[in-house]
Amino acid sequence: MNLNITCIPGDGIGPEIVREAKKVLDKVAVKFGHTITYTDILMGGASIDVHGVPLTEKAVATAKAADAVLMGSIGGDTSTSPWYKLAPNLRPEAGLLALRKALNLFANLRPAVLYDELAGACPLKEEISSAGFDMMIMRELTGGLYFGERKTVEENGVRKAIDTLTYDENEIRRIAIKGFDIAMKRKKKVTSVDKANVLDSSRLWRAVVNEVAKDYPEVTLEHMLVDNCAMQLVKDPAQFDVILTENMFGDILSDEASMVTGSIGMLASASLNDTKFGLYEPSHGSAPDIAGKDIANPIATVLSASMMLRYSFDLDKEADAIDQAVRKVLQDGYRTGDIMSEGCTQVGCSRMGDLLAERI
Ligand code: NAD
Repeated sequence: MNLNITCIPGDGIGPEIVREAKKVLDKVAVKFGHTITYTDILMGGASIDVHGVPLTEKAVATAKAADAVLMGSIGGDTSTSPWYKLAPNLRPEAGLLALRKALNLFANLRPAVLYDELAGACPLKEEISSAGFDMMIMRELTGGLYFGERKTVEENGVRKAIDTLTYDENEIRRIAIKGFDIAMKRKKKVTSVDKANVLDSSRLWRAVVNEVAKDYPEVTLEHMLVDNCAMQLVKDPAQFDVILTENMFGDILSDEASMVTGSIGMLASASLNDTKFGLYEPSHGSAPDIAGKDIANPIATVLSASMMLRYSFDLDKEADAIDQAVRKVLQDGYRTGDIMSEGCTQVGCSRMGDLLAERI
């Protein structure tokens, strides 16, 4: 298979971690007999420095022509970088927002996995963390409260602000289908999270999710209220497989789920549209404080590349090979500085990439 991938190295540690992800992908390609065509584009600060804008139309066209986009991270130090003296629509993050919009990415996927070897970083009690967890938060990204009508008015001298939470059934259906499709590749369980005891939008959400579930008889569906889900994530995270939820609930729950893993350098993510196309990137930022020092952890980006193989190319065996290489490298005691613990061997970004590639 030929994989046509657009890469966005970006800013800060971005170019370093993308280089290591490519190293691992290239090894996968050799082992499984694929070819990969990479086309790099500039985005964020790197694009501002060359083109004066955080994303050009040509870069968008290149990304659209690819099968998938693999990104490092964008942005600089927000208090010292000259990029943040520009108008908001010219700053690095505006490039990412524009790209997400141009690619119609409506589904955000964030896995939260607790690796046995990193259990010490998990802030939960050992009796809870010892059960381990491996869940996927699927968050709707383009609807709901963040995109509804909003206004602030003054009535009889009192200021009043109004935000509107709107979902139509088509928006719910397309994300639900994605959620069930992802569950079919995992442990076949979907927990749909809403606030159906209060919100009309949640009652519609629940009804449409039930309709979609009929097409996936192998998948177990449960509904959970968002307040309960927030508690369950710290009480019994092992119960979850795919958590399917709307934009704001997903925003909060995905951060909560990430933090219980305790390791920012390990967190991958993906944003998908209604084709197989996706944008894959680590959940962390561009870490300008450690850029250029060869100490960043590339694993979140490598795991994002694994998600790309699984969800955009349906190359599950190849994705499994990457996930297993990550586990193996941790079992073998290698750590970058951010996940270092006593008795382990500390390595830099590039060496970690080599070690992962060797284990493919
Ligand atoms: P950050 O995630 O870049 O860094 C937070 C802390 O975690 C830092 O101490 C950093 O050194 C460390 N860290 C992050 N990734 C690491 C890795 N792979 N290995 C080792 N340590 C790692 O968050 P921040 O400092 O708040 O933001 C820096 C810049 O990144 C800002 O410009 C912000 O806007 C941008 N940002 C971009 C994205 C994105 O591109 N999607 C996401 C978040 C933040």
